[in-house]
Amino acid sequence: MAFANEWQARKDICEVGRRLYDRGFAAANDGNISVRLAPERILCTPTGVSKGFLKPDDLCIVDLEGKQVAGTKKRTSEILLHLSVFKARPEIIGVLHCHPPHATAFAMVHETIPKCVLPEVEVFLGEVPIARYETPGTQTFADTVLPYVHNANTMLLANHGSVAWGNSIMQAYFNTEIIDAYCRMLILAKQLGPLKYLSEKQVGELLQFKKRLGIDDPRIHMEDCDLCGNSLFREGYDDFKTDSNAFAPPASSPNSCSGKPGQAKSSPATSSDASTEVLIKTITEQVLAALGQK
Ligand SMILES: [Zn+2]
Repeated sequence: MAFANEWQARKDICEVGRRLYDRGFAAANDGNISVRLAPERILCTPTGVSKGFLKPDDLCIVDLEGKQVAGTKKRTSEILLHLSVFKARPEIIGVLHCHPPHATAFAMVHETIPKCVLPEVEVFLGEVPIARYETPGTQTFADTVLPYVHNANTMLLANHGSVAWGNSIMQAYFNTEIIDAYCRMLILAKQLGPLKYLSEKQVGELLQFKKRLGIDDPRIHMEDCDLCGNSLFREGYDDFKTDSNAFAPPASSPNSCSGKPGQAKSSPATSSDASTEVLIKTITEQVLAALGQK
């Protein structure tokens, strides 16, 4: 694990802040950004400053209990949320919380984020859970991410916004862009007709591709092929439940195949196989572009 260079991290936080503000992901002084500099040192944004106008010297450094150890401005009031992620996942370098409008719309109506629709979402995000509502700024609020933090890299907070994390702050930012773009497309698609879901086989292929990229997904380890019908998070993680009012989930077909994902019986090449190849090429280009950004 490579910790962030402090000067580079300060510049990256300011850059991510500008992008958040320009995209309307963080109105006024909303949102907060943090980067781990050392196991117990977190560089974070100050409270009460617009993310669109951050300067490197505005940032604060806190320990893992949220105690400020450097910086003249006061640390963000949402530091406990970030620390929940950093404490649970010692390898995580960047955490980003904001209010991207399209994703937050889903969080406002507690609508389950559909799976098995877009390849990029399957590969880069996987299932995106929604955590229960609690009053922002409290430890109880920060704890709402804990049931999901090990099996997700991006999630929504009911009636509030999003939080994403990754091995760099740019990755957390890209995850946020992907979930908001996806939710925007879902809202557009809803005007046209019902969603057409990818098949279990198509999603199994995406998960195998994801595995080769070294991105983990709990579904890679699932023993049955019901990748799209079941939610990893709706049962057994927390007592908060989301709804599927706007987007009916695909019909569950747990007996359609056996074995691990991607080990379903092969079928002759079809046009859908060809389109999967094109999509995988697109994803590869995105990965290379993302790596080039670092
Ligand atoms: Zn917020």
